[in-house]
Amino acid sequence: MRKGLVDVVAGLLVVGTVTACGGNSSSPTTPTSVEVPASTVTSTPSTGNTGLMVNGISLSELPATQTMTVMPFDPAAVTLISAFGPSHTGIDINTITGGRFLSPGTGIVTLVQLNTGQGRPGTNYRVRIHLTSTGLNALYHFEIDGSISDQTQRDNILVALGDRVTAGQHIGNLWSLGPHAHVHFDMLDAGGRDAVRCPLVYFSPAVATTWESLYDTKIRERDRERIENNRGTFPSLPDLCNDVDLPN
Ligand SMILES: [Zn+2]
Repeated sequence: MRKGLVDVVAGLLVVGTVTACGGNSSSPTTPTSVEVPASTVTSTPSTGNTGLMVNGISLSELPATQTMTVMPFDPAAVTLISAFGPSHTGIDINTITGGRFLSPGTGIVTLVQLNTGQGRPGTNYRVRIHLTSTGLNALYHFEIDGSISDQTQRDNILVALGDRVTAGQHIGNLWSLGPHAHVHFDMLDAGGRDAVRCPLVYFSPAVATTWESLYDTKIRERDRERIENNRGTFPSLPDLCNDVDLPN
């Protein structure tokens, strides 16, 4: 386990409104202001979530001492990845049907939702995990580019509210009905509300490098088709985490 992002993770509490696709959780939980005794700051940084309740689940206070070392998805089924930017607060991961999504760390499932209210009924479902390993939250918004029954949505969510999960645990599948089907993946603050930073910064360098490389590979695959059809050229490859918005 690697230490180093501890202060950044523990100190962040972003105020603002998330407007990008899938990013905003429906939970209206008010963040709890926590005083951290000076004596504990140097030895054990707090996650700042003392006493926090999410959907009736009490979240334990554990030290934020880890970056995550497990990818939140299985790369095998990925067809495209879209970048984080100022107006897109997560990373989109497109897959074929059956794309497997995994918990990147130890945690507690704090939200399982069918028909999330974004898009037509039957189009989206959502899972959120409070990561006790980092004090933050991973949000998966499954956007299927079509419509399926409640039962099919439920069948593709493999965890229940309140479940304890471990790093690498298979938590759900994307049901993909079209080329725009994807999972919007966000890292949220301790209250599970606002997107914090580009998800990549919370992962180990090995995971971040693999993720970035997969992103480049999928862009090249996409644009190779364009070139064969004489409709475009290879763009320069941007980063997965951006300070400015990228075209598409
Ligand atoms: Zn998105």
